[in-house]
Amino acid sequence: MMIIMKSNATPKQIDHVIERIKALGLNVHLSQGVEATIIGAIGETHNINIDQFEVLDGVDFVKRITQPFKLASRQFYPEDSKYALDGFTVGGKDLLIIAGPCSVESRSQIIETAIAVKKAGANALRGGVFKPRTSPYAFQGIGEEGMEYLAEAREITGLPVVAEIMSQIQIEEMVKFVDVLQVGARSMQNFNLLRALGEIKKPILLKRGLSATIEELLMSAEYILAGGNNQVILCERGIRTFETSTRNTTDINAIPVLKNLTHLPVILDPSHSTGYSEYVGPVARAAIAAGADGLMVEVHLHPESALSDGKQSLKPEKFSEIIQQVGQIAKIIGRQIPCVQ
Ligand code: PEP
Ligand code: MN
Repeated sequence: MMIIMKSNATPKQIDHVIERIKALGLNVHLSQGVEATIIGAIGETHNINIDQFEVLDGVDFVKRITQPFKLASRQFYPEDSKYALDGFTVGGKDLLIIAGPCSVESRSQIIETAIAVKKAGANALRGGVFKPRTSPYAFQGIGEEGMEYLAEAREITGLPVVAEIMSQIQIEEMVKFVDVLQVGARSMQNFNLLRALGEIKKPILLKRGLSATIEELLMSAEYILAGGNNQVILCERGIRTFETSTRNTTDINAIPVLKNLTHLPVILDPSHSTGYSEYVGPVARAAIAAGADGLMVEVHLHPESALSDGKQSLKPEKFSEIIQQVGQIAKIIGRQIPCVQ
């Protein structure tokens, strides 16, 4: 951390800053130039609140050198995180392709969809059972019953299953049925939930909040990592902007930026980031070209009658076609989707 003093800072003000740094158990590196004095604070500074220095007399501004998200940061852990999800290695050469309906609607729906997406190249099945809906009168998901259907679909296809968790009171039940717990955009800063998920031993798919910065996403990941769970997958799902042509705006930039800042795997959800099935393919291709470690795509057997997010859901045949294209792009950048030749 560097504390840059104002050009007219007095020796007394400089000494006071130095005393405060030392009081925190940090070492001091003083650089006194003709124009400016810079005081370096050396040591464990990621958990220090920089405001306490910014308010001191004579201080111009404070700059962090190390990231405030230490465990998630590539500065501290340069190697890509890799971990097993059933037989699959998340963060490895193979792309993680999570597909399935927005919501589990019935037993036959999720089983048929699971078989179809597996055939098309998916290596994980998604399906919401507790749905975070804007309206309390909208379909809220079929709950526990849906988890049983997901588990059955898993049994039949061998695909690990991903479902959204909305509250820590659902953890005990969900870990029995679900392989990856998804934290939705609306829950990204539910810090109590994040802390609780830090204590379990299952991968967490953490989606970026609707208006969250990349740093805020990484700070949320840090909550889970700090609890001892290092299996976090980050998911860009579009952010709110002034643009109304699409449901959200895909922040493609976030993919290389995140890959630069963190060792955690990064995937894109082009279904929520665009909101329209016809844009899912082009944006999915862009994500893989930009270096994403995978995709999460909504697939429905009959999008026109889906209970949620039908407009952005692909039919299995279209999904299969997109996976073939994405698989070709993957090869150019040294990645692969195993079923794509
Ligand atoms: C979802 O994946 O169905 C979902 C609700 O996504 P998000 O939290 O990104 O809106
Ligand atoms: Mn959805």
